[in-house]
Amino acid sequence: MKIIVPPREGRAVRVGRGQTIRIATPKGAQAADFFAYNAESPAEWLSANHTWVTTFNVKPREGDTLISRFRRPMLKFTRDGANGVHDMMIAACDQFRYEFFGFKGPHASCSENLCVAMRREGHQVDVIPQPINFFTNTFVEKDGSFTSPPNPVPPGAFVELEALMDLICVVSSCPFDLPVEGWTINAGAGPTELEVEVH
Ligand SMILES: [Zn+2]
Repeated sequence: MKIIVPPREGRAVRVGRGQTIRIATPKGAQAADFFAYNAESPAEWLSANHTWVTTFNVKPREGDTLISRFRRPMLKFTRDGANGVHDMMIAACDQFRYEFFGFKGPHASCSENLCVAMRREGHQVDVIPQPINFFTNTFVEKDGSFTSPPNPVPPGAFVELEALMDLICVVSSCPFDLPVEGWTINAGAGPTELEVEVH
């Protein structure tokens, strides 16, 4: 099964235990906010924060087991085709994030994309989990300061993850498109589509 997540939008896919989800950025440098829920009990969701205190790395790395907020294994990061350019620190963007940067009027966001995608699966989302942001370039300095330098992820870069339980996964093509110095989330050419395959 293969779907295209259009630029600025999100999609949910069911991934059965033992199946692999592959997420690709065909044009490169498109941040993919990734969320996952236990298909049987959506109160259990993938938690970036719980994961990185287990792997002792603020970046997800090939071979890592990604865990839920109940600290149970949800996914195995089996293949990294993006040279490690990922993030687990940035909260999902929302309307107020864009207003913070001075944007006027409604703006598409990963939080909204998640809520809509999950509603289509029959679930109300009240809490926005900390996503794993694939193809997102962030850097933590020695003094703790944090930036998002220009995104070097090439066209066709991908990640593959194996489901360790039945999951509903949500992938959002991050709509971030504001010119903010030191905060280059996408390529600068504007959000582009993502490709999601389940097999
Ligand atoms: Zn976003």
